[in-house]
Amino acid sequence: MNPTDSSPLACGSPPGPAYRGRLAPSPTGYLHLGHARTFWAAQTRAQAAGGSLILRNEDLDSTRFKLEFVDAMLEDLRWFGFVWTEGPDWGGPFAPYNQSERMDCYRAALEKLRAGNFIYPCTCSRKDIQAAVRAPHENTGDELIYPGTCRAQRPSEIGPRKYSWRFRVPDGETIAFTDNNLGGQHFVAGRDFGDFLVWRPDGVPAYQLACVADDAAMRITEVVRGADLLISTARQWLLYRALGWPPPDFFHCPLLLDEQGRRLAKRHEALSLRTFRKQGLRPEQLRQGWRVDNKVD
Ligand code: GLU
Repeated sequence: MNPTDSSPLACGSPPGPAYRGRLAPSPTGYLHLGHARTFWAAQTRAQAAGGSLILRNEDLDSTRFKLEFVDAMLEDLRWFGFVWTEGPDWGGPFAPYNQSERMDCYRAALEKLRAGNFIYPCTCSRKDIQAAVRAPHENTGDELIYPGTCRAQRPSEIGPRKYSWRFRVPDGETIAFTDNNLGGQHFVAGRDFGDFLVWRPDGVPAYQLACVADDAAMRITEVVRGADLLISTARQWLLYRALGWPPPDFFHCPLLLDEQGRRLAKRHEALSLRTFRKQGLRPEQLRQGWRVDNKVD
């Protein structure tokens, strides 16, 4: 994929130093060992490249985030040994670093997508989609494949109903990229994932759009994150292309699993950094045996 338009990004300032990585936690619970492990890979890679590490507070979802988790997040990250060069606590050249303060950036990206006819308004509820998708798809995706009900809908046909904005994926196109950790990746649009949300009906930008707009505006050169987001990376590739912005490199880390083989979630309180700290464990003990690629020996 070759983004053609190299015009200035919607927001942000001049390019920073060569490598720019980021930590992008959502303050919806306490950070656990899985976050720490992925973030440690991000920090180690930024340090090895002599670059910068940015902390971005992904606090867009006001129904789920709590202020106490933002404070706890900063405290836990510092305790663990994370050091960021730009962030919500001391700012930086690409401030603000709280997503809730970056709405202009997201609106500009939405407008560009709308002007390019890459998105359409959608009035379907989750229930509508569930009802329309008769047979469960065999896909590697993390959400139902949108059946395209509103694809041809125009804003003028909607009336007073609330609507979201969806990205129209190029059905059948293979999205291929080389992950710096996991190697070649291929996803087929319309099969592995469908038309995805870029803007929610409550006026909040969806994760895919906010993430791309911020990573581009903050001049992130490599995104290090969990392998559960590989399919989102394919979606985000399409957004970068539509917006005419060069995508960053990607480095996805295998996820830490619990004893039952389930991925760690914020419900795993026993594995939260707070709990370890209360138990008197030191971060160095927790990091024993960790490899940057997050593979298990
Ligand atoms: N806030 C997102 C999360 O915690 C960030 C995902 C990403 O790194 O792109 O899942």
